[in-house]
Amino acid sequence: MGRRTVFTPYRPKTILNKSKRADHWFWSRYSAYPYIGCQHGCAFCYCRERKYSPYDDPHDFAYQIKVKENAPELLERALRRAPVDVVFTGDYQPAERKFGLSRRMLEVCRDLIFPVFVLERSPLVVRDLDLLREIHKNAHAVVAFSIISTAEAPGAACVRAIENLAPAAEKRLAAMEEFAAAGITTGTCAMPLLPELCDDDATLTSLVRQTVEHGGQFVLAGGLTLADQQREYFMGVLTRDMPDLAARYEALYPAGSYGPSQEAWRRVANRVRELCASFGIRDRVPRPIVAGDKRALNKRLVEWLADQAYAMDLAGDTRGMWEYRKAAWAIEDLPQEIGLVRRTLGARGLASLPGVGERMATGIEAWLARGPARV
Ligand code: SF4
Repeated sequence: MGRRTVFTPYRPKTILNKSKRADHWFWSRYSAYPYIGCQHGCAFCYCRERKYSPYDDPHDFAYQIKVKENAPELLERALRRAPVDVVFTGDYQPAERKFGLSRRMLEVCRDLIFPVFVLERSPLVVRDLDLLREIHKNAHAVVAFSIISTAEAPGAACVRAIENLAPAAEKRLAAMEEFAAAGITTGTCAMPLLPELCDDDATLTSLVRQTVEHGGQFVLAGGLTLADQQREYFMGVLTRDMPDLAARYEALYPAGSYGPSQEAWRRVANRVRELCASFGIRDRVPRPIVAGDKRALNKRLVEWLADQAYAMDLAGDTRGMWEYRKAAWAIEDLPQEIGLVRRTLGARGLASLPGVGERMATGIEAWLARGPARV
């Protein structure tokens, strides 16, 4: 018989995690979640890492769910004092049917006109499609689905065993189709692409093709990281259920390593990039920007700079990657509108901005002359 889930309601003092800047993956600057622990219990879940997890026993992560019962009130109080930017939120594990906190948190984002990024392994998020449509209309909503394999992929059975408590990938794809039909930005976060199970050509092709067939606009790839008790838990599951694979993972992730080797990561990410290009979608999440945002041009420029940094990373040009990344941070931090700065300082003056420099100034100047594809 399966283990019974225990829900523990409590009232935290804060809920909103704030970053200085938006990240370059999901474009979120804020994050807020209503539950700790996840009933989907994926064996690889990074939330079991000690720095994220309050559980001494990693087995409890899927069965001892802490419920932040005052989450919507805390979120409202925090967002009222925060500059508008993307909120990474939503958690549609089975607890959400009982407590409905994700929906109430989305209502707060809708009322205060904050864009949202939702990342899900559950089709339950379709329940809140009405609300996400409203958010999308006035701010912007991106609803992405975590999908790392498909039913037709060679490693499907093993992946299903590893994320056996989560709804099947086909259900997530069907949910993606509903969001696409509603005009909401949607796509796949292929994270973590498990080595030897999800990173072969047949699986990557199927992931991209099925995303396209279900209306997705992007596939964002990410590698597996392994640390402390998350590593012990995952390797324990592999050793018990897939011992041959466990031995290969021990070689791929020797003690002390955290992520995949740069070489392995670039091979996979470049293949995803090629496949996305051939299917006419992107391997990056589009940055949501609220209509009328005074910093819209800066934010679109930052998106372009971050895209270039990613391209440099995939090409193995670490120096170039850092140049673009630092320029992206500098523009994100710039209090003035970049078009005004260009007009005031002139093309050469852009190079005097901290973190920009001559080469990046030339690129920014050319980008401004071309004009963004969209603002
Ligand atoms: S659905 Fe996401 S948060 Fe939940 S266990 Fe799986 S990877 Fe972790």
